[in-house]
Amino acid sequence: MLSGAEEANTRIAIDGPAGSGKTTTGKLVATQFGFRFFDTGIMYRAATRMALLQGFALTDEATIVHSIEDGGLEFVFDDAGDVKAFVLGVDETDSLRSPEVDHGVSAVSALPVVRQLMVQMQRDIAGDAQIVMVGRDIGTVVLPDAELKIYLTASAEKRARRRFEQNRSSGIQQNFDEMVSDLKARDVLDSERETSPLRPADDSISVTSDGKSLEEVVDEVVQLVKAAE
Ligand code: C5P
Repeated sequence: MLSGAEEANTRIAIDGPAGSGKTTTGKLVATQFGFRFFDTGIMYRAATRMALLQGFALTDEATIVHSIEDGGLEFVFDDAGDVKAFVLGVDETDSLRSPEVDHGVSAVSALPVVRQLMVQMQRDIAGDAQIVMVGRDIGTVVLPDAELKIYLTASAEKRARRRFEQNRSSGIQQNFDEMVSDLKARDVLDSERETSPLRPADDSISVTSDGKSLEEVVDEVVQLVKAAE
């Protein structure tokens, strides 16, 4: 299978709603194949953090775009292959999952020119690398000719539970019911926005993580990657 993977330009797109396990699954799959991993959600989160820090209205597209074009955001792979998000020159990676960012990110990610800038950066990052890229529009917009497109889903309850546990282990306190309603609200905004709404690409393969362990989901995706080679 992955014989010849060195020459093949394998790009794997994983899209799906918030908390479906895209990041955890995508990272483990990337590690198995020695591919790069990139979570595009952090870019929209960083843009939101930048707007919040500067007191911009989250709907003020021109000002947010200007600040991005001015170099307000920078994404850097460290030696371990993890991405650090610099906002206004400061490493803000650990602040990107705060409830304030969670709450505002769908407004910022709905801004069409912000998306244009992000999509361009994401295509540059993918380049001709072997990469697993996760987000909402990777298979539909960012890498429409990706070799494999996965649409990962799970029930809202399971997704909220996963995010809640992740946040708790990172020291972020949040009320569980608020988290469920925030997540559902984000799903609606992400699916109904005009520019690049969350939807499965026509040629994507749907994978649900309901009723499965993380290992089982990873294994399912690994088999799909092998079959796509
Ligand atoms: O995946 P994550 O929950 O970190 O994404 C945060 C938000 O960023 C999403 O709710 C969505 O509004 C936005 N997003 C997007 N397109 C992507 C990745 C994330 O619109 N490719």
